[in-house]
Amino acid sequence: MAERPEEAPMTSPVISMTSSTSLIHHPYQPPAGFAAPQPAVHKASTVIFANTAAVRARNWKEKNGYTYGLHGTPTTFTLEQRIATLEGGSNTLLVPSGLAAITLVDMALLVSGDEVLIPDNAYGPGKELARNELARWGITHRFYDAMDPQSLLDAIGPATKLVWLEAAGSVTMEFPPLAALVQAARSRGITTALDNTWGAGIAFNAFDLMPASGSDPVGVAAAGVDICVQALTKYPSGGGDVLMGSVTTRDAALHQRLTGTHMRMGWGVGANDAEAVLRALPTLPLRYEAQDRAGRALAQWWAGRSEVSLVLHPAFTGSPGHEHWRAQCCAAAGLFSVVFDERYSAAQVDAFVDALKLFKIGYSWAGPVSLVVPYDLSLIRTRPAWRGTLVRFSLGLEEVADLIEDSRQALAFLG
Ligand SMILES: *Cc1c(COP(=O)(O)O)cnc(C)c1O
Repeated sequence: MAERPEEAPMTSPVISMTSSTSLIHHPYQPPAGFAAPQPAVHKASTVIFANTAAVRARNWKEKNGYTYGLHGTPTTFTLEQRIATLEGGSNTLLVPSGLAAITLVDMALLVSGDEVLIPDNAYGPGKELARNELARWGITHRFYDAMDPQSLLDAIGPATKLVWLEAAGSVTMEFPPLAALVQAARSRGITTALDNTWGAGIAFNAFDLMPASGSDPVGVAAAGVDICVQALTKYPSGGGDVLMGSVTTRDAALHQRLTGTHMRMGWGVGANDAEAVLRALPTLPLRYEAQDRAGRALAQWWAGRSEVSLVLHPAFTGSPGHEHWRAQCCAAAGLFSVVFDERYSAAQVDAFVDALKLFKIGYSWAGPVSLVVPYDLSLIRTRPAWRGTLVRFSLGLEEVADLIEDSRQALAFLG
């Protein structure tokens, strides 16, 4: 067999990288002599050890080597590194869904007798977890108003061990004063965990909440959350075909606590799913920007319609927390809600939703297909701030002019 020419080894560039570049150039090492840039799919339950000394030398708990398929393969280790880079953190753990990421944080940090504080506008299934399993295990919870740092301070008691944050709020899209909330929790020595699915590591840096403008009017520079979770299901996967979650930290001791629970719970992810996310990551900034642009264009169209009383989009003046969004963020997810005028019944709004053709009715978002969900505000908030039926729109990758036309034709069915 002819000798193959020497191939240049893959190395990571030494130039300083923008974040989108760092999603592509990462210190992944392909097998010797095979210089393809894409990571391989490594599937294994068992990892073979050379001898008994090799078994004893491996430190299972610190995951500093390959020990067992469930605890990591080159494919999942590469994805963990890339998500950590994306979030601006140091270490990431992968779990089978975004909801499992929330569960992992709760399980790792809370014991019977503890209390967890959750924003009233947080992702609903995380609240259900608190109301059911956490309650059964003797862990109490309280909801606070994420728009008011004093509400958080007032809710903190001697049993409080964890504060959840979410920006923007689920469905109602309020953008909270994140840095002030983090500082409030930190002033009482309490760990903070952010559901960063909306920001996706693109809109702002959760581990360094220095306002994007560079100014620091409230004196909270360098405040950052302790833990970031994401539903990789949404933007990082981008295809609407993968369920996965991540838990990222900067603090090594906190990462160790999370890793212990993660390993004991047996929460691994499949290599094919990990590879699907790895394949989608290089286009994440492009997709985020395109869906942001489309979301603002459609929200702008709705802002000119008399059928709705409110357009809830953090980048829009008059939307709750717009000033916090402007101080913190350089982009927004392609996600917004409209509140229909009170003169329309829920049944009329349902007729509008049913008449949409391109927009499909469905919950997950950030895939190629645009989606809507109608919500009854009185069912999802302890203190609903508005009356009227709300519809959430999430933008896919269709032509925005077609999506506007779809919305226009469906309004004829509103009655
Ligand atoms: C979708 C979502 C989750 C849960 O993700 P799954 O992978 O569907 O479990 C958590 N938080 C937010 C904000 C989400 O939008």
